Amino acid sequence: MPDITPFHLSGVPTTGADTLRVTSPWDGSLVGVVSVPTEAQVERAVADLDAVRAEALATPAHVRAAALDHISAALSARAEEFAALITAENGKPLFWSRGEVARAVSTFRWAAEEARRFSGDLQRLDTDAAATGRLAVVRRFPRGPVLGIAPFNFPLNLVAHKVAPAIAVGAPILVKPAPATPLTAMLLAELIAETDLPARMVSVLPVPNDRMAPLVLDPRLTVVSFTGSGPVGWAIQEQAPRKHLTLELGGNAAVVVNDDWPDLTAAAERIALFANYQAGQSCISVQRVLIHTAVHDAFVEELVTAVEKLTTGDPTAEGVQVGPVINDAAAERIIAWVDEARDAGASVLTGGTRQGREVAPTVLSDVPAGTRMAEEEIFGPVLSVARFTDLDEAFTIVNSSKYGLQAGVFTTDVRVAFRAHRELEVGGVIIGDVPSYRADQMPYGGWKQSGIGREGVRSAMTDLTEERVLVLTGL
Ligand code: NAD
Repeated sequence: MPDITPFHLSGVPTTGADTLRVTSPWDGSLVGVVSVPTEAQVERAVADLDAVRAEALATPAHVRAAALDHISAALSARAEEFAALITAENGKPLFWSRGEVARAVSTFRWAAEEARRFSGDLQRLDTDAAATGRLAVVRRFPRGPVLGIAPFNFPLNLVAHKVAPAIAVGAPILVKPAPATPLTAMLLAELIAETDLPARMVSVLPVPNDRMAPLVLDPRLTVVSFTGSGPVGWAIQEQAPRKHLTLELGGNAAVVVNDDWPDLTAAAERIALFANYQAGQSCISVQRVLIHTAVHDAFVEELVTAVEKLTTGDPTAEGVQVGPVINDAAAERIIAWVDEARDAGASVLTGGTRQGREVAPTVLSDVPAGTRMAEEEIFGPVLSVARFTDLDEAFTIVNSSKYGLQAGVFTTDVRVAFRAHRELEVGGVIIGDVPSYRADQMPYGGWKQSGIGREGVRSAMTDLTEERVLVLTGL
């Protein structure tokens, strides 16, 4: 039996009465046991967040920036330890776990820079004769303590996207990691505790899902920043309609391959990889591939070849690209959706099977509308191909989704790029690459059922704060 990993209550490693077992999606072995806070301990954390508001806000920018820089440097120094833990509890291959750690290193570093920059505006008011001698100072202040809820698929980086902007603006935060992957969040909490931030400013608590409603409703937690599935996100909005809410939800991202793209092999390899990275368990993994009819048949052949070349297996082995999905229920659901599409007339060009939690990278064609594969987020290593004859048709298909997170367009034509930017109903359009690209400097979030609000360090800082104007008179 491994040691029990404490949770972090107001910056202090603490244990409660219950525990949560964390097992490997690859072989079911026990990865660790994390302590679960009691109701009284959760109440302590929330009361502390509320009590520390003024102190957090008064913490100078240089202290907040130095804390963020420290976390970034400490993560970098312990990168392999973090990557191994992510792989152990999440099942993603080491290659992707290392990439996730590198991303988090940059998230915290970028947040440190933004903490130094985040300032305000001066607005002259004397453009109006009645306001002669007046000047407005506009600054943003934290809306209040934040409840940050994170999903399992990026156990480090999506926790970083909650914590780093909150620290940068001086907002206290309670982070709730996913039950499948709490250990990485606890390791990160150790690094946060090493900083000079007020200890009560950050709590990382694996609160069970059935005890979350009181936290969502708690008036002391004025912001809920949620990343996860649509049903849970929209239920939170219904529970707490008056709270400031950020919802980063799912998608079924499309990529358009236009006939002007010069290197179909490279595009096929890129799409194959990013439909299957993390076994398709990314909100922006490629699900729908739309191909210009002039290149369709050749491209699909290249794509199937590229998918079949992917290395699958033990995520701890070097070189493996596709590991297991998170649990048995996910594997069963994914295959059920593939079977439903096949029964409705789709062709399985490769894959379509599973061994335990390992779902074979799968390519489907002719997926009928109305099937879950066509309409919903599969969140597994499965893509569908379809042909289009002109961009009107392609963009209509992209926009027919109820989701709108990001889209990719393989084109070299700048007019097509600007048209895609103008017409696609998504939060981000990636030209010359897959929709799965994300950098922490850029705004990130969804249209339609993919969510509300934007993350990305700067956008999240804006979201966690509200403008307050100071009017000076008699100047
Ligand atoms: P999930 O919705 O099951 O869980 C997300 C988080 O919500 C977890 O911490 C979970 O414990 C918590 N939760 C569950 N029930 C709750 C409740 N009633 N009240 C409050 N919190 C509750 O999602 P998941 O399976 O962990 O993650 C996968 C989903 O996340 C996919 O849909 C994916 O697209 C989405 N996602 C979105 C983004 C984005 O930035 N848009 C990024 C990553 C993942």
